Amino acid sequence: MKYFPTIGLEIHIELNTQTKMFCCCKNDSNETKPNQNICEVCTAQPGTLPVANETAIKQLLKTAIALNCEVCDFNRFERKNYFYPDLPKGYQISQYALPMARNGFLDIAVSIENSPRNDQSQNQNDEKKANDHFFKAQTKKVRIERIHLEEDTGRLLHESDEYSLVDLNRAGVPLMELVTEPDIHSATEAREFIKELQLLLRYLNVSTADMEKGEMRCEVNISIVGEGSDKLGTKVEIKNLNSIRSVEKSIEYEIKRQSEVLNQGEKVIQETRGFHDAKQITFSQRSKEQAHDYRYFPEPDLLPISFTEDYLLSIKAEVPELPQAKRERFQREFDLSFKEADLYVSQPDLGNYFEKVVSELEKKEQIKLASNYLSTDLQALLKENQGPGLKGSRDRVSVTAENFAEFIGLIASGVISSKMAKELLFEMFQTGAGPSQIIESKGLKQIGNEQEIEKIAQEVIKENQQPANDYKAGKKASLQFLVGRLMAKSDGKANPQLAISVLKDILS
Ligand SMILES: [Zn+2]
Repeated sequence: MKYFPTIGLEIHIELNTQTKMFCCCKNDSNETKPNQNICEVCTAQPGTLPVANETAIKQLLKTAIALNCEVCDFNRFERKNYFYPDLPKGYQISQYALPMARNGFLDIAVSIENSPRNDQSQNQNDEKKANDHFFKAQTKKVRIERIHLEEDTGRLLHESDEYSLVDLNRAGVPLMELVTEPDIHSATEAREFIKELQLLLRYLNVSTADMEKGEMRCEVNISIVGEGSDKLGTKVEIKNLNSIRSVEKSIEYEIKRQSEVLNQGEKVIQETRGFHDAKQITFSQRSKEQAHDYRYFPEPDLLPISFTEDYLLSIKAEVPELPQAKRERFQREFDLSFKEADLYVSQPDLGNYFEKVVSELEKKEQIKLASNYLSTDLQALLKENQGPGLKGSRDRVSVTAENFAEFIGLIASGVISSKMAKELLFEMFQTGAGPSQIIESKGLKQIGNEQEIEKIAQEVIKENQQPANDYKAGKKASLQFLVGRLMAKSDGKANPQLAISVLKDILS
């Protein structure tokens, strides 16, 4: 039997504020010494009172607006009660009944390959429609149920079998929780959602959202049903996912595991499962708590919050161009493929560089050419020479945008061949010198002089009588061979178009 998975995500995001959610302690995820950033409030001393961090609230609102959410007019904090040694108060201040934002969505890219864009048969009038279709056909809406604000817990360090240590540096760090509707149906879609969300949070500058560092933590809710069924299966929650890869792997594993359970005529148990990174399997942890287990009630030490229209407008004004809009603009303005646009959007430094180069160029073909060299050759140089971790950062591109634009102009006008272009770019990358300067000193200029090429052509024909005669006798393929010989003899400097026409002239 074939099964259909339904997946929802719960994502916790550490906000990059200066201070914690309810006190003035530093919010510093790089602090390695335990219990450095703590005070009476975040260690829950009697008689202390929380004060909400406005920057964290603003960051949540910015995210909510970017994710097309309704901001809730009236919202409040609540206490989520449970005992754990990393939670000194015995409750976590969170939001439950009245979250700050709800009912949003995020578009994610799906099936890029199936884009109808390559269909050249569209006429001029259909072009806009085709473009719109292209942008939409490859995206999918994942609805967002809610986004709320809460505080993080501390950390336990299990040093020995006899005791554990508590580090409260993280206790009280602002945490934004985002819950999606169950709109995701595969591991790939889950991955695309997390990647797109991560990028958006970075564009908004609200979090670095690095999963490996715990700045973004993800829980997966997954159930499966027989294909065609309109019911939902039993939901299993997977925790301890600390990379996008483990999210994908755990979903794949759960689909397989739950299918096997159902195939054997058994029932999937509603439970919380962990993910074992090394073994790539999920394992049962405990039965899932229900909301009523937490005895939520309104936090009496904090007032409910509502926002004025002007306040929300001022925050909206701070939302920059977002990844999806930027992708669409790059495709539309510069006629790029989705993949190219995505490269510049996911590496903003490279995208800014590309826009600078483009501002120096006029013709559409030159822009395309620039993008080709940027997304392939220059990328390869960056990867080879300085390690993948840092690729694309602006200060490491020793080629200025102006020089790069000039380089493109030289190729477009035929001054240098594409073969020479690679060498030239390498030199530019190594030395930081301008292209004209390098051409001069290295003698890279293409031979565009007809007499010079004719001289080489005569030599080539003399050395290759048989192919020359074959061509004269009507064997067209022989010309390609002779052109190849000519290019080799000129060290790749001959203008190929000219080489072809000169050879044809001599042989006809
Ligand atoms: Zn504190």
